[in-house]
Amino acid sequence: MTDRYELVVIGGGIHGAGVAQAAAAQGHSVLVLEQTALAAGTSSRSSKLIHGGLRYLEGGHLNLVRECLHERALLLKLAPDLVKLRPFYLPVYRDTHRRPWEIRLGLSLYALLAGIDKISRYHRVPRHHWDRLDGLATDGLDAVFCYPDAQTDDAALTRAVMHSAQTLGAELRMPASVQQVECHAKGATVHYRTAQGSVQCECLAVVNAAGPWVNQVLQKVTPVPPQLAVELVQGTHILVRGTLIQGIYYLEAPRDRRAVFVMPWRGKTLVGTTETVFRGDPAQVQPLQDEIDYLRETLAHYFPRYRSGERQVLQAFAGLRVLPAQADSPFSRSRETVLLPDRTDKPQLLTIYGGKLTAYRATAAAVMAHLRPSLPAHKAIADTASLALQAES
Ligand SMILES: Cc1cc2nc3c(=O)[nH]c(=O)nc-3n(C[C@H](O)[C@H](O)[C@H](O)COP(=O)(O)OP(=O)(O)OC[C@H]3O[C@@H](n4cnc5c(N)ncnc54)[C@H](O)[C@@H]3O)c2cc1C
Repeated sequence: MTDRYELVVIGGGIHGAGVAQAAAAQGHSVLVLEQTALAAGTSSRSSKLIHGGLRYLEGGHLNLVRECLHERALLLKLAPDLVKLRPFYLPVYRDTHRRPWEIRLGLSLYALLAGIDKISRYHRVPRHHWDRLDGLATDGLDAVFCYPDAQTDDAALTRAVMHSAQTLGAELRMPASVQQVECHAKGATVHYRTAQGSVQCECLAVVNAAGPWVNQVLQKVTPVPPQLAVELVQGTHILVRGTLIQGIYYLEAPRDRRAVFVMPWRGKTLVGTTETVFRGDPAQVQPLQDEIDYLRETLAHYFPRYRSGERQVLQAFAGLRVLPAQADSPFSRSRETVLLPDRTDKPQLLTIYGGKLTAYRATAAAVMAHLRPSLPAHKAIADTASLALQAES
């Protein structure tokens, strides 16, 4: 007998888990197929920030920032054990690209988009407090701003969202690697491989949430669906000894003025990230020596204590962004999520390109809105905007 679901989701990253939660909350039968493990891809290799993305303001992506800030506020309430508010410090030196008035303007807009609640207020750190900032270099320092944003454990958040989806009735098969998707008049047949052998199931619609594998999955679909030209851009983080007491530092890399975060992480310090175009099998992505050097250089530039022995890299990992293929630098490219249906009237296949960990719930809601004509209407059993997420004990 062939299994039947209303929705099949390919990928157990934050987007796959988010869509499963949203679909199950609307009363749909849903199956998630993940080839490796939950959050095995990008969703365990991010910067682990639940943030609006201050720097996206410069690109004019106000809607993205507003949406992410709204989701941040929600996740702080729904997942207090997983998403924590942190002070972010933004130092401005004599040679920093942006001047203090520009930072002030950006932070004011950021607070405004967050709804100017109490938690969104920023301030300028008085000069006599600079020596409390975890040994931050003060030579040539003009100003330091402090604003709130949030940090999470990305893999734990993904597992919590999937757990919530399963509690609502979603099924997860793992490891289960999708081999073929045949779209037909009544929906789709999905063929996948498990340790026990090949299996197939029927569904009304499929969501392709395969992250950096997104176009590889589309190559397994018949008839051939539309595709976006994308570029995979790897981002590396390093973990070093020593911790930060005060919070997270938002710095400008001396080599190319890109944003680099220096963050406390499980009693150590996490530094990231880079942007290097990647061509190859997403499963093989590895930090490059030049990226590790770039991050060590940035850390040592701002924190003199890292200029000596403490610079040993304990761990390095790389994740892949899915960005629109364009000629300009990856840093300035849009981070907006793109949802691509195979057809507009009644999609059988919807593909998620890009996206933010922070906005997973809003993205999942948008996915379900696209799929409304393809799925039967049920009485909702829950609302993801009020479902608490539990950290694993
Ligand atoms: C370096 C970096 C830093 C980032 N930092 C942040 C941040 O601080 N804050 C933020 O909000 N966002 C951040 N992001 C963005 C965010 O991490 C990603 O948008 C998000 O994790 C993508 O999740 P996903 O579910 O789409 O993809 P993934 O997490 O990659 O999941 C895709 C899954 O699909 C599975 N899969 C693939 N092919 C198949 C198949 N054939 N069959 C079955 N399963 C399959 C894979 O195994 C994988 O688990 C960052 C991204 C990067 C790269």
